[in-house]
Amino acid sequence: MRGNALGKQATTCDYCHTTVEDDNYLDCRICEQIVHIKCLPHASTPGDLLGDVFFDFTCIKCVRKEPQSGVEPPKERLVRQRIPWLLVLTLTLYNLSIKSKGLSHHGYFHWRTHIISFVNKNWNYIFEPRARRRKQWAGSVSGALSHNSPEYFQSGVSVCTETGWWKLAKPHLTPRSVRAEYEQRLLERQLLRTDRRLPVVDENSCDSDLSVTDHLSDAQATATTEEAVERLLPVSEGCARAIPYMGRPPPAVEQPAELHNSKSRRRGMSRSKSM
Ligand SMILES: [Zn+2]
Ligand SMILES: [Zn+2]
Repeated sequence: MRGNALGKQATTCDYCHTTVEDDNYLDCRICEQIVHIKCLPHASTPGDLLGDVFFDFTCIKCVRKEPQSGVEPPKERLVRQRIPWLLVLTLTLYNLSIKSKGLSHHGYFHWRTHIISFVNKNWNYIFEPRARRRKQWAGSVSGALSHNSPEYFQSGVSVCTETGWWKLAKPHLTPRSVRAEYEQRLLERQLLRTDRRLPVVDENSCDSDLSVTDHLSDAQATATTEEAVERLLPVSEGCARAIPYMGRPPPAVEQPAELHNSKSRRRGMSRSKSM
């Protein structure tokens, strides 16, 4: 695998044979050669989002080596990777800050007005086709912003005198570099867990599990009282501090009561049986 910042392997675009000088390139998953995004047929990736390198890419040379079928001429393959909310929001704020700077308030964007709208508009490009669109995804966005602050996102509460405004904590970092940093942190955290023999799931675990697709076991394992509270609240600014809930739809509110009742009923029954 190639490291960040062009590691030790190829630094030359396999299509135009000139040097790749920034992070706007894709790595072929088969030959591991790199290709400028500007050298792709339409000079862009699907969705044309700036800094978007989160694809499983197969270059034209490798596609041509595959057995060809049909009359369609062979072309590059770009398959969207499954990306955590942290990177979705990084991509979003990165694009907003470059393309829509005028919308910002001192460089900060509003999570609902700008961020949610951007994700919504680009949903089909950002998420893999199998990703399920959860009803509570707006709450997940505000949760992921607060949860990854101040490491990745900076709140504009002091500048904008209002909650809900955000910008990238390190605006100079490309989404590719943010991913590298994020993966490094994950690795360090994993090592730390092993060292301290901490349980696999801790209060920080949800930022690594943020995804629109189901993470059944993770979601169940991380279910907390705060999440239970979040479920009861309407999605609003007030939710911004709540931990995002990324698993299955929450059980109905009355379910615990039912469980409790049925348990006590069972207990009552067994007691009456034993009597
Ligand atoms: Zn090139
Ligand atoms: Zn290739």
